Amino acid sequence: MESAVHIHPAVDQGLKPADPGFAGGTLVCACTDRPVKIRIEGQVAHNHVCGCTKCWKPEGTAFSMVAVVPHDKVTVLENGDKLQVVDPTALIQRHACQQCGVHMYGPVEREHAFQGLDFVHPERFQEQGWAPPEFAAFVSSIIEAGIDPSQMDGIRARLRELGLEPYDCLSPALMDYVATWVARKSGALAS
Ligand SMILES: [Zn+2]
Ligand SMILES: [Zn+2]
Repeated sequence: MESAVHIHPAVDQGLKPADPGFAGGTLVCACTDRPVKIRIEGQVAHNHVCGCTKCWKPEGTAFSMVAVVPHDKVTVLENGDKLQVVDPTALIQRHACQQCGVHMYGPVEREHAFQGLDFVHPERFQEQGWAPPEFAAFVSSIIEAGIDPSQMDGIRARLRELGLEPYDCLSPALMDYVATWVARKSGALAS
């Protein structure tokens, strides 16, 4: 499954299946000294690779890998004093380690379809068995980070080969979920 097109180190060799017994674990930042540790209870949901310019990406990677967990399943275990919110005005309050730059968790506190969920990067789990990505979001946005547009056909083909259907926003299921929330709030749909 190795390819000349690199998506993300956690998927470039093919996807690893979820362990049905995965009960959560510890996310660890990249610091060797006083790493930030975050406890996650239970499995992650909606894992995907993301091409947007806001999500944290490993060095030299076009995509991030990001999933959600309920906010009450997230606990800062160690060295939380190193965390700072990247952009307090953003929907996702991405808490980054100020030393190594890794985003450790990003709660959505604002009134939104994703309120109550935290965005996390499963590759930072020290354990194996987390659910693999299911699709690719915001694929066209990698051009904004400097990827040559002429590479896009090859990148989308590789994503499909990996089973990660490429979308230029979120997946249809998540876009429908967000739109349904908006429609219930406005009254266009009965709640
Ligand atoms: Zn760090
Ligand atoms: Zn993103």
